[in-house]
Amino acid sequence: MIKQNISLKKYNTFGIDAKTRFFSEILNEKDLIEKIKKCKKTPFRILGEGSNILLTKDYKGYTFIIKNKGINIIQENESEIVVEVQAGENWHNFVLWALEKNYAGIENLAFIPGTVGAAPIQNIGAYGVELKTVFKSCRALEIETLTFKIFKKEDCDFEYRSSIFKKQFKEKIIITSVCFVLHKPPHKINTDYDPLKNALKGKKNTIQNIANAVINVRKSKLPDPSKIGNSGSFFKNPIINKDKFLELKNKYPDIPNFFEPYNKIKIPAAWLIEKIGYKGKRFGHAGIHNKQALVIVNYGNAEGSDILMLANQIKEKILIHFGIKLEFEVNLF
Ligand SMILES: Cc1cc2nc3c(=O)[nH]c(=O)nc-3n(C[C@H](O)[C@H](O)[C@H](O)COP(=O)(O)OP(=O)(O)OC[C@H]3O[C@@H](n4cnc5c(N)ncnc54)[C@H](O)[C@@H]3O)c2cc1C
Repeated sequence: MIKQNISLKKYNTFGIDAKTRFFSEILNEKDLIEKIKKCKKTPFRILGEGSNILLTKDYKGYTFIIKNKGINIIQENESEIVVEVQAGENWHNFVLWALEKNYAGIENLAFIPGTVGAAPIQNIGAYGVELKTVFKSCRALEIETLTFKIFKKEDCDFEYRSSIFKKQFKEKIIITSVCFVLHKPPHKINTDYDPLKNALKGKKNTIQNIANAVINVRKSKLPDPSKIGNSGSFFKNPIINKDKFLELKNKYPDIPNFFEPYNKIKIPAAWLIEKIGYKGKRFGHAGIHNKQALVIVNYGNAEGSDILMLANQIKEKILIHFGIKLEFEVNLF
């Protein structure tokens, strides 16, 4: 069913009250193709659970919400499984499914909001693990030809919070299912990330304990979108070259840093934002979270433009102060 003039407030975790002219949920691949054909020349866009977007204005086209469901093991041997998950499945429900069956690989990614279909778009990551470590392939509809294509891991150009789907295939394909490789016991686990190591002290390193520790740390640090609107990290952590890093280190000896391939250095954007004095600041209905400076929040009645104005202000200040150009992690519509 196609509805008209719908508020998207409950379809985005920022809780922005922007409207869409047409609205429909997509239940399967056939439904997707039929609805795209119905659009004719009217534009359309795809959303999952709206947890990585900022709606800056009303939309005159169709908003399609991906809702196809299903989790099926399609290959199995004594050490691993390949599981195909439909794009509209909730990511954390899939993590819970894997934990229940004792399959390892995604426990560090517990409690990340959103759908499985959106997870490859920015190569979701947390607590030392990225989606690319378990991704095998995805099936996607090419919008121009309305034919399905398979993207294997090596096709996807996965990087920190990025993939081919945010670059040359941006808005050109719609992911309808994703295949993952998960591991049977004995599990290889990843507890390299310090806050996770600390949270696991005195506990066995099982995938269930890792997921519980991740969930607890996330709950203590990040605002719950059902209580206070947000889209998680608004900015990516900037990756700078060594000369720039040494220049900053000279001025700010305490600057936190993480080494990246090719002699590059990642700087936590939260530290930069804290340094310019914005952590916990409120500007009308928008503000910066008091526990995590990367998160911009909607205190209730902010419009997308209020959030965007604040994000641009932060970006400008960081550029002037540190000579670093921050990039948005959140997708603007
Ligand atoms: C509290 C909070 C914490 C978060 N923590 C993390 C974190 O730790 N790590 C992390 O990586 N992210 C994090 N995020 C961001 C977000 O959860 C992920 O980016 C998630 O994958 C977005 O899924 P979604 O279904 O909500 O996508 P949406 O926000 O609906 O869409 C995001 C983008 O993907 C496109 N898209 C969505 N589905 C499809 C599809 N099937 N095919 C093609 N394009 C599609 C949309 O057009 C849009 O451009 C967090 C967000 C919140 C609110």
